[in-house]
Amino acid sequence: MSNKLQVPVSKNEEVTVDIVGLTHEGEGVGRVDGFTLFIQGALPGERVRAKVLKVKKTYGYAKLQELLVESEDRVDAPCAIYKQCGGCQLQHLSYEAQLSWKRQHVVDNLERIGKLRVAAGPGDEGIVVHPTIGMDEPWRYRNKAAVPMGMAAVATGGDGDGLVSAERLVGGFYARGSHRIIDMDECMIQHSHNDEIVARVKEIGRELDITAYNEETGRGLLRHVMTRVGFVSGEAMIVLITNGDRIPQVDRWVERIREAVPNVKSIVQNVNKRNTNVIFGDVTRVLWGSEVIYDELDGIRFAISARSFYQVNPVQTVELYCKAVEYAALTGNERVIDAYCGIGTISLFLARKAGHVYGVEIVPEAIADAERNAALNSIENASFEAGPAEVVIPRWRKEGIVADVIVVDPPRKGCDEALLETILAMRPERVIYVSCNPSTLARDLRVLEDGGYRTIEVQPVDMFPHTVHVECCSLLVRKQ
Ligand code: SAH
Repeated sequence: MSNKLQVPVSKNEEVTVDIVGLTHEGEGVGRVDGFTLFIQGALPGERVRAKVLKVKKTYGYAKLQELLVESEDRVDAPCAIYKQCGGCQLQHLSYEAQLSWKRQHVVDNLERIGKLRVAAGPGDEGIVVHPTIGMDEPWRYRNKAAVPMGMAAVATGGDGDGLVSAERLVGGFYARGSHRIIDMDECMIQHSHNDEIVARVKEIGRELDITAYNEETGRGLLRHVMTRVGFVSGEAMIVLITNGDRIPQVDRWVERIREAVPNVKSIVQNVNKRNTNVIFGDVTRVLWGSEVIYDELDGIRFAISARSFYQVNPVQTVELYCKAVEYAALTGNERVIDAYCGIGTISLFLARKAGHVYGVEIVPEAIADAERNAALNSIENASFEAGPAEVVIPRWRKEGIVADVIVVDPPRKGCDEALLETILAMRPERVIYVSCNPSTLARDLRVLEDGGYRTIEVQPVDMFPHTVHVECCSLLVRKQ
């Protein structure tokens, strides 16, 4: 067969495409004579005119030129920088449609990767995948911003021969597909305090002639500004991530920030001198105020330090954790293991209803926070240990620790195989699997199913509206 027959489109050609799906990255999936084209911004059910950008053997990419038939679910993205930024991927899809797409995305993963049977309706035998729990107000939900800083040329006027330009400190986001920083004043998914804080810190930086780090030359001081705000407490932490130990006029910085940001409780410096995309370096020091800020989730107080993991959407976090507690069906005597426990958030929710909770987490600072948080809330039936879950839990088992319920909440790559084997060997009555990645969730559920567990239900929760991410809480029970 000639190549032409196999690939019916060529680069720069304009084609009319019917969109049949949405990838896990939010691109429209189109078909032209059976050939697949990925088109950013196109939605299922639409017919579009698009220009082919790149052609591979079995698929290609095209740029949306014109909507010929529009989806009923299409809305105008409210954010002015949506197309350039790339931080959100689904603002052009109505919120209702986002929620049902996320549920379907979970179902597809369970079926295709996990080879699991999902119930088609009430009374059907398979796994019940509930409708996604959405937000009433799906904007301004993030409690944390990490904003890259840069220098940008600005026109400052001039004579007839041309404009005179100067450089000024900017901060915002990387333009799609590049490392050029575009200045941004407002992000519609951030808590407004975070936007204000970043704007003030930029102004102060300009006043004090602070330079931004340049990743090509390795020069310049300020790399990122990180802010975190407690939704209940209103307390704010500001972390200045610098390419060097010394901040010129540091006292002036601190004084100006305290004047401009009345709710700041902690100003921290983190030093990162490495040429890397990783935001944080190893050295963290408090410049002013407390080492932690406090926040509250469903009446439990948490101390959060600069380097600890803390869920970014506190409203939906409460929904998620309450679902995990509901699935655990605790009566007061159960022994529960919380694997990948972070600062002990889920552990303390569970401890209110369990006999004893054992938390394990790989980051020692997070375990220190977890212990502090248990004490802060006078919770005495939770204990914590730092280390890899796949090493610590098998040891606990040898030491005779028994678990009625095991909760896991791993990072995107899912659970370590050794941990899954240990869960099967410990034979808890229930396993609650909290996951931020439906594909590794599906993979791990298959292992647990083969080992004697049945997945009863899966609850998707929309922790990250307008992005393609979805969080799930799943309940598994031992077969006999
Ligand atoms: N349950 C917590 C944290 C979830 S994020 C919460 O909801 O806040 C996943 C956590 O797993 C992170 O804190 C990360 O540091 C930790 N982690 C990553 N690999 C691990 C491993 N092998 N063993 C234990 N913890 C691990």
